[in-house]
Order: sequence, then structure tokens, then C-alpha cells
Amino acid sequence: MNILEIIEKKRDGHELSREEIDFFVSGYTHDDIKDYQASAMLMAMFINGLNKKETYILTEAMKNSGEILDLKNISGIKIDKHSTGGVGDKTTLIVGPIVASLGLHVVKFSGRGLGFTGGTIDKLESIEGFKTKLEPDEFISQVNEIGIAIMGQSKNITPADKKIYALRDVTSTVDSIPLITSSIMSKKLASGSDAIVLDVKYGSGAFMKDVSSARELANNMIEIGRAADKKMAAIISSMEMPLGRCIGNSLEVKEAIDVLKGNATSEELLEVCVELSSIMVSLGYDITLDEARNRVLENIKNGKAFETFKKLIISQGGNKEIFEDSYEFQKSKNIIEIKSKSSGFISGIDAQAIGLCSSRLGAGRVTKEDTPNLFAGIELNKIYGEKVEIGDVLAVLHTDKNINISEFENIIYDSYTITEELKSRDKMIADILI
Ligand code: URA
Repeated sequence: MNILEIIEKKRDGHELSREEIDFFVSGYTHDDIKDYQASAMLMAMFINGLNKKETYILTEAMKNSGEILDLKNISGIKIDKHSTGGVGDKTTLIVGPIVASLGLHVVKFSGRGLGFTGGTIDKLESIEGFKTKLEPDEFISQVNEIGIAIMGQSKNITPADKKIYALRDVTSTVDSIPLITSSIMSKKLASGSDAIVLDVKYGSGAFMKDVSSARELANNMIEIGRAADKKMAAIISSMEMPLGRCIGNSLEVKEAIDVLKGNATSEELLEVCVELSSIMVSLGYDITLDEARNRVLENIKNGKAFETFKKLIISQGGNKEIFEDSYEFQKSKNIIEIKSKSSGFISGIDAQAIGLCSSRLGAGRVTKEDTPNLFAGIELNKIYGEKVEIGDVLAVLHTDKNINISEFENIIYDSYTITEELKSRDKMIADILI
């Protein structure tokens, strides 16, 4: 078989066979196919698409490129959750402990942030001592003991996706539905859980810019998961505006703690967390969504979800002092308040602009090699629906960098839409696919 013929076939819009897709994935993983050939192949796939059969085959080929985790030593139902990424998305930190506190086993392999999107592993590393690398035995016994463990993706899982994703990142081939489907689902299927709940985001701060493409992505992933005998469900949720009030690693951990303590200050964040948790519980126990939602709300109220979060942090070596009211996370050198120049209602906050701004303050990575500053980021003092007067603090910037304040003020002003009358926004959850 010859890679040039396979590239030409996809370039000319034809369907690839299993042998051809396997040849491409295995050849690229083992460095027999060069970056420039794989780039051409990915661009041909991006432009001409992959049908469902090809997407399934690509997913399987990437899944089988590395280790498949065996979770048979974890008792009960093992459930996983995956978000397609966004700005201020700290839902894993909240949803995982809620679901584990209700007796399900949450096995979570998380990623790091890239570009304007954040990643759970960076957030957890802002907690002094927290270990994001666990030995398989440690991981399994922790899940059996406290119901949840969260660690970074093992190097040995889906090496094909690691190479292909890195190449897509630098060849403008990320936002393709079949390529995202196979990338995410290969990792999920290799990670061995029984049920998977997807949070597929749409909007300016997401890969999918509108609801219909997010729904198509979700349906594709659900179909592939079900074909592999997994219980699957998804929500389609808005990422037009950042989720919650905090963007940046330690800032998001603090916000997650507040939600788990029952002190959420963003209805939207609470809604997404409650719905995701309820779907996971409903899928895990085969109960109605309403019954599951009651259990979820009860465990936030009675403190059991927060207790499980504490156990998670302490069990993975995190400093337990973070749970004391007097504890303060390390502060950035510069903490800058941005005050409003106008009055009215907050009708919009551009998620992508805020994500990029937070990244420039040091919270994110521009390239995979960058080390993010775990304490930098943005607190949104005013969020959608709130009234603002001239001189009120809109947002607070946290950074160790010596920034040009007026430039950043303008970024924040441009990100906010302040109107005399409150403009309506899309529902936070556009659809539930269960
Ligand atoms: N997340 C992934 O893991 N892969 C993609 O392709 C996009 C988002």
C-alpha cells in the first residue's frame, strides 16, 4: 500500500477502506509516514470529510494504537464524563465528586489546557501537592475506596491521537466533526468505562460555533460509543460566555469549592453541573432524570458531594489546608481591577476573547511546551444579567506579568456587551441526548 495513493483517494472525495485507514494510522504512529504526508491526509479528511463507517474505523484504529485500560478490578458501574472544552469550564471538579458521592465510580482521565481553553489537570495542579500521575494500582484502589480518581492521560493510551492531534493543532485541521469524534472517542473507549456522558459545547468559546454542528458532533460520538457497547448520553451546552465567574486554574478551583459548598454565584454554572451529574446518575442507576436530579441536589445540600471532593484532593496528596476558611491560594504579583465606563445590564461576555485574555495573563499555554501560571486568570465580578453602574468593578485580572493595563482594559471592555435593557440569551442547555 502506498500513502500517496491513499491521500489522492481522499483528496478526490472517495471512501477509504479499513486497510487504508489502518495503514495511515499505524504508519504515522510509527514514524513511517512523514508529517508532511500526514498533514496532507488530514487536510483531505478535513475538506472532504469522513462518513460514519470511516469515522468508526479511524476511531478504532486510534484506540488500538496503544494500551487499552482494564478496569475490571474496579467494582460497580464505572462512569466517565467528557467536555469538548471551553472557557471557565470547571465542571469536572464539581460533577465528579457529586456523582461519586452518590455511589457511582468516576474514572476520569483528563487533559491540559491549550490555546484559550482550560484543562482539568492544570487546575488540579494549582493545589499544592496534588498528584496528577498515579500508578494503575493506586488509581484503581482509590476509585474503589472513595469512588473517584482523576489523573492525566497515560502516555501509552492512544499514541496515534497524541501525534495526530498535535499535527492538527498546527495545520488548522482541529475543528472537523469526524476528526474530533475519533480523537475524543478513541481515548474514551481506550479508558475502559461502562458509561460516558459528553458535554458538547457550542459558541464563541468552543470548537463548534453553533448548536446544529454541536448536535451532529454529539450524535456521532454517541453512535460510536453505543456501537462499542457503552452507555452514552450528551448535553449540548452554551459556551457563548465563560462558564461561571472565574477563568484560570486556582481561581476555578476556588469557584468549584464554592459550588460544592452550596454557595454557587453563577446560576449557569450550577445548572450545567446539576444537569451533567443528573444524567450520569440516571445513566448509572437506570433511573429517571428527575429522580437523579433530586439525589444530586440533596448531596450538594447535605455536604456529601463536598466531603467527596475533600477526600479526592487529600487522597491524591493535595494540601488539606485549602479547605480552611482562612486559606489563601498563592496570589499573583499584580491584581488589577477593571472598572466599568458605562451603566446598564450585562447582556454578553465574549468567551473566546476572555479565554485568550486569561491565556495572555499567563493562565494558559500558547504552545504545548509552555508552563502555565497556575494562579493567573480573570475573575468576572459582573456576569450575564447583572446590573452595572459606571465605576463598578467589571473584572479583576490576576497576573505576574507587567502588562500594559490600558490594552487589557480595552480587551475587557470589548468583551463585555452592556445594554440599557437586558438582552435575552440562549438557554444554557440547548439539548439533552439520552
Ligand atoms: N479534544 C480532543 O481530545 N480532540 C479533539 O479533536 C478536540 C478536542
